[in-house]
Amino acid sequence: MKYVFVYGGVFSGLGKGVVTASIARLLKASNLRVSVVKIDPYFNYDAGTLRPTEHGEVWVTWEGVETDMDLGTYERFLNQRIGGNCNLTSGKVFGEVIEDERKGKYLGRTVQLIPHVVEKILEKISEAAENSDVVVVEVGGVVGDYENIPYLLAARLAEMGERNDVIHVLVVYFPIPPHLGEMKTKPAQHAIRQLFSHGITPDVVIGRAPVPLDGVRKEKIERTTGIPRERVISLPDLKNIYEAPVYLKEEGITEVFRERWGLPDPKLSDWEERLRRMEDPDDEVRIVIAGKYVKIGDFELPDSYVSILEALKHAWAETGVRPEVTLLDTRELDERVLLDADGVIVPGGFGATGVEGKIRAVQLARENDIPFLGLCYGMQLAVVEFARNVAGLEGAHTTEVEGNTPHPVIDVLPEQAEVLGKGLYGGTMRLGEYAAHLIEGSLARRVYEGSGWYEEAESLEEVFREREELYRMGKTEKPFIFERHRHRYEVNPRYIHTLEDAGLVFSGIHVRYDGVPLVEFVETPDHPFFLGTQPHPEYKSRFERPSPVFVSFIRAASR
Ligand code: GLN
Repeated sequence: MKYVFVYGGVFSGLGKGVVTASIARLLKASNLRVSVVKIDPYFNYDAGTLRPTEHGEVWVTWEGVETDMDLGTYERFLNQRIGGNCNLTSGKVFGEVIEDERKGKYLGRTVQLIPHVVEKILEKISEAAENSDVVVVEVGGVVGDYENIPYLLAARLAEMGERNDVIHVLVVYFPIPPHLGEMKTKPAQHAIRQLFSHGITPDVVIGRAPVPLDGVRKEKIERTTGIPRERVISLPDLKNIYEAPVYLKEEGITEVFRERWGLPDPKLSDWEERLRRMEDPDDEVRIVIAGKYVKIGDFELPDSYVSILEALKHAWAETGVRPEVTLLDTRELDERVLLDADGVIVPGGFGATGVEGKIRAVQLARENDIPFLGLCYGMQLAVVEFARNVAGLEGAHTTEVEGNTPHPVIDVLPEQAEVLGKGLYGGTMRLGEYAAHLIEGSLARRVYEGSGWYEEAESLEEVFREREELYRMGKTEKPFIFERHRHRYEVNPRYIHTLEDAGLVFSGIHVRYDGVPLVEFVETPDHPFFLGTQPHPEYKSRFERPSPVFVSFIRAASR
């Protein structure tokens, strides 16, 4: 097993996730089987209970594990499924050590950070990297944090196996204080020395800064730390994160892989073709995301919708149509901006904040023939809107917001509540991939035709059968596709007929093992593009394999 460890220096939020993903993509392009592991040194067991406004979006893996959003970055870059066990937290590591101790695994011995916790870390990394040639490990936080010391010790332990099998990469910031106007190297020097103090010598230093590092700075690092200047690599702010692998390659990072591991030059021709289409778009469309934007102090975090923003970029790279995105707050909906849009997205969400504005956004898009995409909550609210304004079900709502609504068109199904309540599905939400059959002649069917999604579903079904997760298919008719879910509420099956009679089309259905139909896709005919998805197609969109839903939506917006 080969390892690349990626550390951060000076402060977090440097784009370490993008660097990790880029390195992984380059190694894959050199024909290695690659795994990626994200280490979060906090003591939560997983990210499911973290506030999205603080930590960004909650990512959901294919098997339904809620993780840090960096796993999403890896999947989008690597174009392969990244499992939930690729997110390692201190909660998991220490939890297991304590469990082992209780089981008597360490009988008679004192259980300690060294060697027991450190060995457990390496064990968990190898578990996650099963069947790979190399694992790229991103250590969360920055060197100098108390919390990540055990992981630095683990990296050193890996190196004690075989120095040549391990490459250490430090991603570090080079500030340019405005009152000096000069790039300073001292914080980077200190970060490098911090790594030294843990017995780790970085093989590569990646310099993050607004602009590329010049020869003077690289030489300064060489003189003060002994890291050769050609191993000090620039990664300035890029306007498009997908340029990062190409940039790093041109800066010479793959030289290290060649020298150390004899790897061939990575080929990224399709990747570069997609970058060219983004660089030189044929058309531009205005896309409004009508959502809830919570402020923390004076700052807003658009990270809560990162998968949607990335899926739009992937569609851009595929179609050459550039989406210009406006984030519109539905607590005070500006209807003019909405009516000006070429396409409207109502994203996923929870609770009552801004909900009437979201419903109004659906109505405006529906009545004015503006291409519309409702994702999860957005789809549920599209059903509410249709029930109220077309089917004449006054006061229709989701019971998530209005428990006493006369028409609970969106509700927690009693049996679903029971099953979820018993914990039979792992959590209290429907999480991970579920099958959906798409009705012939529907927009949903046209969207997925020829996308490769049916083929993917076949291989995924095999995996789920092996894992004995038959409920993920239920009794759903074939052909079906799989998309990823994260929700608690469903379209109430009692209203399906009434809404159908009023003209709503339920174009994607998952048939639960007991025969109850769960609605996956809705649409209205006689509209250029009006699609609601109970799953989140944005979770499966990748740079080299964009989501067909987003591609079709962008094409419709461009028409
Ligand atoms: N709040 C809704 C539910 O729980 C939708 C969730 C979402 O959009 N992810 O069903």
